[in-house]
Amino acid sequence: MDELLRGINNTKNTRVVGAVTTDLVTEACRRHELEGLDAVVLGRALTAGCLLATLTKNDDERVRIDMRGQRRVQQVLIDAHSDGKVRGLLTTRPGPVPVPDPDAPAYRTQVRHLVGGGQAVVTRDIGLEKEYQGVISLDSGEIDEDLERYLTNSEQLPSVMACEVELDGHGKVVRSAGILCQTFPGAPAAVLEPLRDFVRDGGLADLLRHERTLEEVVGFALLGEGYEPMERRGLEFHCPCGRARALSVVSTLGAADVEQLASEQDETTVTCHYCNDDTVLSKADLLELAARMRSEMS
Ligand SMILES: [Zn+2]
Repeated sequence: MDELLRGINNTKNTRVVGAVTTDLVTEACRRHELEGLDAVVLGRALTAGCLLATLTKNDDERVRIDMRGQRRVQQVLIDAHSDGKVRGLLTTRPGPVPVPDPDAPAYRTQVRHLVGGGQAVVTRDIGLEKEYQGVISLDSGEIDEDLERYLTNSEQLPSVMACEVELDGHGKVVRSAGILCQTFPGAPAAVLEPLRDFVRDGGLADLLRHERTLEEVVGFALLGEGYEPMERRGLEFHCPCGRARALSVVSTLGAADVEQLASEQDETTVTCHYCNDDTVLSKADLLELAARMRSEMS
């Protein structure tokens, strides 16, 4: 089962979050039929979403990440809640599914050539009236490194974030995990430098070559230092779509077009972009919807 663990190191100058996301990334890739480096891109972004939704103690915290790349990666959309539910999608431009280079040096898998620049908008809703939005350019293109920069720049929190997806020889997801470390105000920023160097050199990717517990992932994030666990919560791929959402999508057509649709076909299928689930609406469903729309208009 996927889980996330928050804690504070023994020196009391760093907040740490570790997440094991293998099941939810596997589920997302199954739903969207992703493999190879496409799976790495979506997996890193989903894991980052889970980590970013832990920044406040608010139970209603929600984080949306909207990345637009300029090469194969057209768009990555992530919607993560502080209750551990996350959904996401990747839209790609046409072309063969890229796979990791087998001759690449032992280093973290790179996806920057699939992103090729662009920008990301991070929207944080912490249950107050106002949403907070930050925009970053995708200078690195490795997903986690760019979102780390978002934390450091937009939120003024010295941070290290790393998210890795380990693939098997067929490009399927084997393991996925992520870490986020942030120093408390007043702590020297240099505290995080050794960890940042280590994960950029592939330290977390190396760790995930074998099965790891959540505690091992958190221990790695603190480079072996002890910590006090604060909170543990389950994580899962979850999409709240369904009949009501499908009807709401169809209603954007307007009453006349909904009636037209009902006259043309017995069933109308609405596919959710986030989870790829289909909701089938009958002719009667559409006519009832159109009648309700007309009565609301009059
Ligand atoms: Zn859905």
